[in-house]
Amino acid sequence: MENLFSINSTIMNRKNLIITLFFLSFAFSATSQEVIAHRGYWKADGSAQNSIASLMKADAIGVFGSEVDVWLSSDGVPVINHDADVLLNGEKLSVQDTPAATLKKVKLANGEPLPTLEEYLNAFEKCRNIKLIVELKTHREKKMEDELVEKVIKMIHDRGLQSRVEYISFGINFVNQVRKLDPEAPVYYLNGDLSPRVIKAMGAAGIDYHFNVLIKNPNWVKESHDLGLKVNVWTVNTPEDVRKMLDLKVDFITTDEPLLTEELINNRK
Ligand code: MG
Repeated sequence: MENLFSINSTIMNRKNLIITLFFLSFAFSATSQEVIAHRGYWKADGSAQNSIASLMKADAIGVFGSEVDVWLSSDGVPVINHDADVLLNGEKLSVQDTPAATLKKVKLANGEPLPTLEEYLNAFEKCRNIKLIVELKTHREKKMEDELVEKVIKMIHDRGLQSRVEYISFGINFVNQVRKLDPEAPVYYLNGDLSPRVIKAMGAAGIDYHFNVLIKNPNWVKESHDLGLKVNVWTVNTPEDVRKMLDLKVDFITTDEPLLTEELINNRK
């Protein structure tokens, strides 16, 4: 009787295990769609685009990643800014032609000084949740780009942050350089002009295109997935466009509206 009970209980345990595995496999096979805060969560109070506050606030809302733009100053310091130029006391300065000490005098909209990558990474080390999506900006000369990517990768490796960082760029040179210097690092191409097959041949992790490119080429999402590539899309800010991209089954949505996008994703679960 005891044996019979133990056999029965083994059968029951197996049955439970199979049921559990069945539901778990559903949970893991469900497409996970993730949010990346474009230039950080800059719409929050006290924040500004590409500020350290925007990074910390993106981490606080628990999205997948926070995007940031990186340039090389004229004296070889990786610095954070979106545009090619900054305004300092009414004067327009080209980031790649200005030394870091001058760039640091620029104030962001929330009063923070323009950060260097080093300062940004000091803050990122304190983040608990997010990945950092580093956009390498295209420069005038390949030499500057090569110096920038080499320095950025070294800084990230020196801090042991490589598993928490991904790269994106409009520049093919940057994609190739990241592949060469850090073959393990995921790198995505932004420019929208190359098919998933070409991206795969370059060794990139996937495409990261403007949403209109995917609306024109909806088959590129499935093609990417069939090739083992991921699909990120920018910069998707309206509920209508977010829904279109979720329907297309993209993996990541880069947005200035991280909370709204997260909510739209959660509503579908
Ligand atoms: Mg960017």
